[in-house]
Amino acid sequence: MSEWLNPIPVDDVFDEGWVDCDACDTRLTDELYSDGCGGSFCRPCLEALVEEWEAEARRYAVENCRITQELPEYDPDQEYRPTPEEYEAGMRDAYTPNAFMAKCRHEHTNYDALIRDLYPMSLFDRIAYQAIRARIAALLIDAKLDVFYEFDEV
Ligand SMILES: [Zn+2]
Repeated sequence: MSEWLNPIPVDDVFDEGWVDCDACDTRLTDELYSDGCGGSFCRPCLEALVEEWEAEARRYAVENCRITQELPEYDPDQEYRPTPEEYEAGMRDAYTPNAFMAKCRHEHTNYDALIRDLYPMSLFDRIAYQAIRARIAALLIDAKLDVFYEFDEV
């Protein structure tokens, strides 16, 4: 969870050099932790929130992530990786388990719909994004174990 907790010098945000934690009112003069939506917190308070949000995001992802269309077949004989030059030039899409995962995610699940309205600055939304992405990957891995056997279940 600490990946979500980045201290920000109070001076960078508040000219006065102080701000009170939105949750516990502790006066912060050194570092604050932001929820990305204008909220300032002390570390323990944001840590507690992140823990709640992670649980909530996982629940949400389990309840809402769906494979929406039958998954296409993957043919390992067609496997293809563009050369760096081809890639640079935007020529030929890769045909690999990774590329297949991305195609399935965008075209055969409700991933795009679920993340459409997430706000990249919001810490809660970033946590939700990660939970949705992980859940979609888990569903696809389960559905196509023969293709994604090398993928780690997140
Ligand atoms: Zn606090």
